[in-house]
Amino acid sequence: MTVHFPFQNTYAALPAGFFARVAPTPVVAPRLIKLNRPLAIHLGLDPDRLSSPEGTEILAGKRVPDGADPIAMAYAGHQFGHFVPQLGDGRAILLGEVIDADGVRRDIQLKGSGPTPFSRRGDGRAALGPVLREYVVSEAMAAMGIPTTRSLAAVMTGESVMRETVLPGAVLTRVASSHIRVGTFQYFAARGDTEGVRQLADHVISRHYPQAAQAERPYHALLQGVIARQAELIARWLLVGFIHGVMNTDNSSISGETIDYGPCAFLDQYDPATVFSSIDEQGRYAYANQPRIALWNLTRLAECLLPLFSSDQDKAISEAQTLLADFAETFDAAYQAGLRAKLGLFTARDGDAALAQDLLGAMAQNQADFTLTFRRLGEAALDAAQDSEVRALFTDPAAYDEWAVRWRQRLGEEPQDATRRRNAMRSVNPAFIPRNHRVEAVIQAAMNRDDFAPFEELLTVLSKPYDDQPAFAAYAEPPLPDQRVLQTFCGT
Ligand code: AMP
Ligand code: MG
Repeated sequence: MTVHFPFQNTYAALPAGFFARVAPTPVVAPRLIKLNRPLAIHLGLDPDRLSSPEGTEILAGKRVPDGADPIAMAYAGHQFGHFVPQLGDGRAILLGEVIDADGVRRDIQLKGSGPTPFSRRGDGRAALGPVLREYVVSEAMAAMGIPTTRSLAAVMTGESVMRETVLPGAVLTRVASSHIRVGTFQYFAARGDTEGVRQLADHVISRHYPQAAQAERPYHALLQGVIARQAELIARWLLVGFIHGVMNTDNSSISGETIDYGPCAFLDQYDPATVFSSIDEQGRYAYANQPRIALWNLTRLAECLLPLFSSDQDKAISEAQTLLADFAETFDAAYQAGLRAKLGLFTARDGDAALAQDLLGAMAQNQADFTLTFRRLGEAALDAAQDSEVRALFTDPAAYDEWAVRWRQRLGEEPQDATRRRNAMRSVNPAFIPRNHRVEAVIQAAMNRDDFAPFEELLTVLSKPYDDQPAFAAYAEPPLPDQRVLQTFCGT
């Protein structure tokens, strides 16, 4: 039973300086933990063959499938504001690209598959915990309709990895519309390799921004496109309470997908200053800082593209600044439209932003759970008797009552019937998010007891984030005080 991957590789056809050809390092005893069968089918892969012993060996990097052209991609990046001219795939190997059922080209990459020329002092491996976290959170994001890389499979390697302690090793098979990052452009720009920047830009245009090729100035249109997608992506993050945790330029995707899930987590109670990542001591990547950081990262991208804009540097800079100025507007439009939908508003009026902001302010002051507040607001829109369920989330319930009077007045200005409004609110306010204490419990069960049932159950619940799923109601609940997990670790 041969596993067939219909590879059509284009990145590996770029000039040699773009990557290093390197095969995955075989592992001792691969064991399949999870295969994403619907995703496999969508990619044109046979899930039965992929879960066979041969398929498992491929997903563990023990066997290279026919047609693969394994490479580690070169990139640079600003890490916490400091530029590192060479990072690259130190523990990931791109097997190749396939065209999915929608006609979209998708990278298939093994993460944790062994050392590469970019490993520096790292071992090229991944630990089970971070692999499970990335699997759960990326699939939850996809189910919520947020652009993201996907998880095709998780395997254990049968080998240990050394971190602070000895941990079980694992490999994640990641699927992305590409793994090209802001840092990929920085890699060439930092070397003064304008031709490399141009070749990369041309590749990105044909792959992700084909309409830019028709534009009068394609490289300007490219930057404009990346800015718009990043602005919309970050708005989506904020609207579900997602904190990426390590928004370095090398973790910022050119295609506009969420990428490189490390110490990421979701808000429970609403606090814009929330930071989970143990390495983010200054709060650079705090929840509410994410739009600002995205713009900072896009400014680094713009700097790389300047030589393609014009040989007159002042002119190039002023053109880039004009495009970067659109970020705030695009982000704000997406964020405000998202907030209106979360509040059940079908039209835009003056005062809506203040109405939303005042709710968020009251939530922050009263430690209200972000996800539950909006979810329950949908029921309150249908039936005011449900207000009790919302107000119970506020330490001072009167703070909600005051706000709710204004909200109802505003709802009264729209003709929509209450059921339609409630249903619309349910479709944008998830009941289920990957709450950090649940993700941690899944990881602990897998590591301490070799028990993957909690992982499976969490994935099942999160695959339908907008359904009530009464059988799984406990998964909608915030952590009890003693269950709260306040820090996340990269585990690299
Ligand atoms: P990350 O924190 O996963 O975004 O990785 C930042 C950089 O460190 C990238 O260049 C990674 O490839 C590299 N890296 C992270 N972990 C390892 C590891 N265990 N071995 C080698 N390189 C690593
Ligand atoms: Mg990274």
